[in-house]
Amino acid sequence: MATVLPKTMRAVVYRGVNDLRVEEVPVPGIRASEVLVRVGACGVCPTDIKKIHTGSQPPPRIYGHETAGTIVRVGARVWGWEVGDRVGLHHHVPCLECHFCRHRAFAQCETYKRTGITAGFEPAGGGYAEYVRVMEFCLPGMVRIPAKNSLDEGALLEPVNTVLKGIRTLPLLAGDTVWVAGAGPIGLMFIGMLAALGFRVVASDLIGSRRRLARRWGAWKALDGADPNLVDTLRRLTRGRGLDAAVVCVPADAVVAQAQAALRGGGTTLLFAQTLRGRTAPVDLGVVCVDEKGLAGSYSSDFTLQKEVARWVFSRRLDVRPLITHRFPLEQTADAVALAARPTGQSLKVLVESGGSAG
Ligand SMILES: [Zn+2]
Ligand SMILES: [Zn+2]
Repeated sequence: MATVLPKTMRAVVYRGVNDLRVEEVPVPGIRASEVLVRVGACGVCPTDIKKIHTGSQPPPRIYGHETAGTIVRVGARVWGWEVGDRVGLHHHVPCLECHFCRHRAFAQCETYKRTGITAGFEPAGGGYAEYVRVMEFCLPGMVRIPAKNSLDEGALLEPVNTVLKGIRTLPLLAGDTVWVAGAGPIGLMFIGMLAALGFRVVASDLIGSRRRLARRWGAWKALDGADPNLVDTLRRLTRGRGLDAAVVCVPADAVVAQAQAALRGGGTTLLFAQTLRGRTAPVDLGVVCVDEKGLAGSYSSDFTLQKEVARWVFSRRLDVRPLITHRFPLEQTADAVALAARPTGQSLKVLVESGGSAG
């Protein structure tokens, strides 16, 4: 089964702020407890864009963490996986045993914070390369992709997981009304899943084509995010009672205040796109205390939801395929990142596809 692998591969190396270079690097070696995956597709994620634009982590690194591909090497001490298996990867896996994990705060677990997938340098995901090494502690995060599904679908398991995790933090009852602010790829996933679960979804976006998409993905109403009367409209749609929850999928702080104003007493605003520390906004503490309007955050994925997420995606109860609007070859990763950072009316999820070799 051992195919001959090349010694070197192409990879897109982050060399500094907004500096991505296509370089020739060694194909990673693996230990007996690890596997090597030939990358087929890797989604461009806003958290990678943030790191590339702000330089929040020192170079050099190879980013890309929404990765799917085909196993090409299996370490001697790895069971249950074979060369040729098509897999979706999770670059973070929690220990499930520490104080944080026992509180289900998986994203705060020290093991989870380590990145266990790499194409070289300090592990950073590695999906913008031809091959990635999956370390032992990330093997439980590997998900088999059924024959009828594409590697692209496998690459979207991780973002769908983050969305389902976010939904699970909301104390919702059947028929509740939820505002999803922002109908980009993540917003549309929220809309599709919330609608499928029986909630009434009001979407908003600044881009008209995205509002139309939001309706197609199951939103009951799709509003213009720039409408100065947005809060009034949201309240009117709930006959004055207010929203049960709001999910903020845009990094616009003013939306958080709008969400708090449009909630009913006891409702929750979920922050999903506020991923930069140090961002502050005025909060009416009395509204949080007396009106019990909660401010919650959700970040990254929940390992325990992995099987459920695979069912959502692979059964196509949530069909993620229409989300993928652009595919770039590995050499054009910088263009892929630029497009994902400044979406147009036509762009949603952007993938980098490295499939140089067959498969
Ligand atoms: Zn991501
Ligand atoms: Zn833990």
